Amino acid sequence: MIWYPYQQMKTMKAPYEVIDAEGVYLYTKQGKMIDSVSSWWSVIHGYKHPELNQALIGQAEKFSHVMLGGLTHEPVQKLSDKLQSWLPGDLDYCFYSDSGSVAVEVALKMALQYYMNRGEEERTMILALEHAYHGDTFKTMEAGDDEDYHFVLKAYGPSKYVVHIPTETAALEEAFEKYHDRLNCFLVEPLLQGAGGMRMYDVSFLKKARELCDRYGVLLIFDEVATGFGRTGNRFVADLVLPDILVLGKALTGGYIGHAVTVASRKVYEGFYDERPEHALMHGPTFMGNALACSVALKSIELFERDNYMEKIRRIEEITRRELKDFSHPKIREIRIMGGCVCMEVYDPAVLKGYQQFACERGVFSRPFLNCLYAMVPYVIGEEELVAVLDAMKAWFS
Ligand SMILES: *Cc1c(COP(=O)(O)O)cnc(C)c1O
Repeated sequence: MIWYPYQQMKTMKAPYEVIDAEGVYLYTKQGKMIDSVSSWWSVIHGYKHPELNQALIGQAEKFSHVMLGGLTHEPVQKLSDKLQSWLPGDLDYCFYSDSGSVAVEVALKMALQYYMNRGEEERTMILALEHAYHGDTFKTMEAGDDEDYHFVLKAYGPSKYVVHIPTETAALEEAFEKYHDRLNCFLVEPLLQGAGGMRMYDVSFLKKARELCDRYGVLLIFDEVATGFGRTGNRFVADLVLPDILVLGKALTGGYIGHAVTVASRKVYEGFYDERPEHALMHGPTFMGNALACSVALKSIELFERDNYMEKIRRIEEITRRELKDFSHPKIREIRIMGGCVCMEVYDPAVLKGYQQFACERGVFSRPFLNCLYAMVPYVIGEEELVAVLDAMKAWFS
């Protein structure tokens, strides 16, 4: 018996059963559908990509996995070298884990211990955003701010360790003034808050955050598990404002295998680097640096560069803006577009009930949540297919 995610099992409708998948298409028992969700925003190259498949098969014929405790291997070395040269600034030190949630946990542990190693043990607090989503493990739930996912935490009462603020400069300044000597980090989903409602905000907020983090010696952490690899129309938001720690997941492996990485800057790394064993980072997921995941991630980055994915994403944004120009509806509160993400936010979530079936009948797989009807398509999508996705969204309202 499968226990499905985010579902009341008693009332859940049967999920679509996938038999095959290729390019942007899912072949299900209910028919062929364009995946407008990219399997939770990860499958950026589409399904059954011949080169990604080959990268996996080639590595599987050598070995699929060895542990990183006392062992190392070429795929993990090559991926780390690639990330070191490809990522901005001195984000050079790659710590791998098996999922985005765990990679955020690692970032938070790094930030806490960075200050403990300096003898600043009173810095136990995290500054985070309202409507933040950073994963479903316990500390990431606490750093997150969405009761729809994490109401179970209510059982513990309000957290002493996390402060949530809106994406407004005044609130940011006030929080730093009030808590700066107790904060170890400011954790954000930069520019685009995904699971908390596809909320978009301006880069000026992040520039201000960088300035305040520098002034008060607080680490800036970008959770780019969702925004990384082009989703916002920037390769990484970290290209615009440099964080001290960067977390990548989801699209890292092109959606092939769960894997994530916490990338530390030189300053953070050096905060652990000395003679004392107790200053080491005591963390080590069993499957960190998995050889299949690293091989496929390397190939994914190679395709991203070689086939000019940033141009593909610009094209997706351009078509989306063109197709939704002048579109509005009294039930829609706002339409937001950023890079490869489009969201129609409705006033009443009940309005979206039945949309999944409606879209399925039009050959589109969609999964609205909260009051968001959205698409985050694979970057390889053709114009016709993208228009079909957007047409389904528009047709629901007319
Ligand atoms: C999905 C997501 C996570 C969690 O990643 P998992 O691989 O599901 O654990 C963390 N942060 C953000 C911003 C995400 O979108």
